[in-house]
Amino acid sequence: MRILIVEDEPDLLRSLAQALREEGYAVDTAPDGEEGFYKADNYGYDAICLDVMLPKMDGWEILKRLRKTKKTPVLMLTARDQTRDRVRGLDTGADDYLVKPFDLDELFARLRSIIRRSANKTTNEIQIGDVKIDTAARNVFVKDKLVELTAREYALVEFMALHRGEVVTRTQLYEHLFDENDETLSNLLDVHVSNVRKKLGAEFIVTRRGHGYCIE
Ligand code: CA
Repeated sequence: MRILIVEDEPDLLRSLAQALREEGYAVDTAPDGEEGFYKADNYGYDAICLDVMLPKMDGWEILKRLRKTKKTPVLMLTARDQTRDRVRGLDTGADDYLVKPFDLDELFARLRSIIRRSANKTTNEIQIGDVKIDTAARNVFVKDKLVELTAREYALVEFMALHRGEVVTRTQLYEHLFDENDETLSNLLDVHVSNVRKKLGAEFIVTRRGHGYCIE
């Protein structure tokens, strides 16, 4: 899962990015509204954490422009706990929001929730044959036995599972599993797919020649 954080307070931006990476997300960052909108509009994110008060373009304007073309789930980060802001956020198409200062665990939970809703899932558990994925704990089980996956392997499994039945292209996977700071060598998608098959079963992810991958 790849997240964009648009936030102009450097310390908060840095600590949020680090915390989300530790949770296993690929994370891109933008320190102002212009760059934030550019990235949100041009790349495929699974969710965006969007600050309201930003230099160059504020969070509301970004959201308004983004909603003309994209449904990317957006979590607004607002410093002001005011009814006016809440109503405005919902009207403009925000999926949820969090009032600063917030608890990191709450941020993680809300992000999982808006990502899940955008994939039309209502619970944290996804069952696919013998494989069970707990998206809150980020654990994967085969026949109720916990399987050790790397952060990247988990991200691959979760993204594919949320798009079960769809053919996911390699381009989509690159876009959703790796962030702007990833080096080419860590981007070995085939290796991750092959490792997941070894751990969860050869048929778990099916290759669709010329198209991509699918969980059926
Ligand atoms: Ca701000």
